[in-house]
Amino acid sequence: MQWTVRLEARTSAGEVKTTELVTFSRPGVVGTLAEIGLMLAESKTLLAKLQASMLCGQVAAYAACHRACTACGVLQPLKDRRTRRLQTLFGTVEVEAPRFKVCGCRRATPLAEVTVSPVCALLTARCTPELERVQAELGARTSFRDAARILETLLPVSLATHESVRTRTHAVALRIEAADRQAAAEIMAVRDEPDKAAAADANRPVVMLDGAYIRAVPGHQVRNFEAICGKVEREGHATRRFALVRSVTEQPHALLRAALQDQGWREGKSVTVISDGDPALPALVRSATGGPVEYILDWFHLSMRVHHVEQVMHGLCALEPPPLASLDLAQIDVERLRHLLWNGDHAIACEALGRVVSWAKDAVAPNEPAAEAKARRLVARCTELCRYIESNEGALIDYGQRYRAGKPISTSRAEGTVNQLVNARMNKCRQMRWSPRGAHRVLQVRAAVLDGRFGQHAILLAA
Ligand SMILES: [Zn+2]
Repeated sequence: MQWTVRLEARTSAGEVKTTELVTFSRPGVVGTLAEIGLMLAESKTLLAKLQASMLCGQVAAYAACHRACTACGVLQPLKDRRTRRLQTLFGTVEVEAPRFKVCGCRRATPLAEVTVSPVCALLTARCTPELERVQAELGARTSFRDAARILETLLPVSLATHESVRTRTHAVALRIEAADRQAAAEIMAVRDEPDKAAAADANRPVVMLDGAYIRAVPGHQVRNFEAICGKVEREGHATRRFALVRSVTEQPHALLRAALQDQGWREGKSVTVISDGDPALPALVRSATGGPVEYILDWFHLSMRVHHVEQVMHGLCALEPPPLASLDLAQIDVERLRHLLWNGDHAIACEALGRVVSWAKDAVAPNEPAAEAKARRLVARCTELCRYIESNEGALIDYGQRYRAGKPISTSRAEGTVNQLVNARMNKCRQMRWSPRGAHRVLQVRAAVLDGRFGQHAILLAA
């Protein structure tokens, strides 16, 4: 049995041109399941032929249309025929790019010969925007090598190597960043009516920030470098992720401002920041917005430190026989910690911690080495928690109240972002090493892909 695929092209003038693309042959009666239907290799041939036919037809029509002089309408004489290669998702196509002599009516001096190539003006890049976009999206989702392999397996794509995937991912990242910078520059301050301003303030954007470490390429001055990952959330808006490697970001503020602007933030409006105790993170938001910032210490990080104290106390209580005097009182203090901090009573929590520390220092019998070690650890943990509370005093809130109001109190969602953005692509199970610049660029594309923003850049990317 034989199948022939013909392509019928009809111009707007009604002219029809038929081209035979491919012919597939198979035995009349199939022997196995594997012989049924179109095969991958056949489909690749078909797609490549179809692409070449469509593309050459379009380019030829374009050249013909641009041959007439724009001033007098006379057909300009042909100078020579050259060719250009264009890489596409469906193969590399060689197209004719004729050069025309510029019409005499538009020449400054009649003898000087000037040529024009309309096709070269049309083909502004060596590959189609679609090929670039697909390579960048796959490159952001998986390793460059795997992305190249996937493309090559499924499509008659132009030579796709991991280098080309990387180059195009980087190129797209630069464009996303440029678009972000532009968006950030266009943010305007707005003056709301007082009641509207109050409503906007109640529903202010929440920026959740967290850091992640990425293994650096050998030869880089440090073993690991940090990427700042975050998420901006606001009721009624789609969540927006962002990530940056600070050391190589030209304008970190612009990226953050663009993410905020996407959430309806305007110059001078307040923002809530939730992060761990690293003061650099809220400082970044503060300097990016230049407006009021409410900083909240992440409940998860605080709760982990309380958990450490509870664990050591638990170990002490488990010793048989109970080695310490007045263990019960200290135990009650430790058990109250979580409740006190949850309700914003951090001053009382610090007093309780102080009592536990002085008790643990006094109460240990010197002839009990196991108990003494545990008590020392308890002192260390309590002191650590107390310092953490004191150094973040301004950022401690009544977590319970905020939680009951349905507002976020933890960066756990930002940690999810770290996993999605950084770990899944760059760390876990992958012996990958990155240059800060390379990581930063992949993160730009990856954040856009995960947000579903990537499609929105289509028009921009085609430019
Ligand atoms: Zn002319």
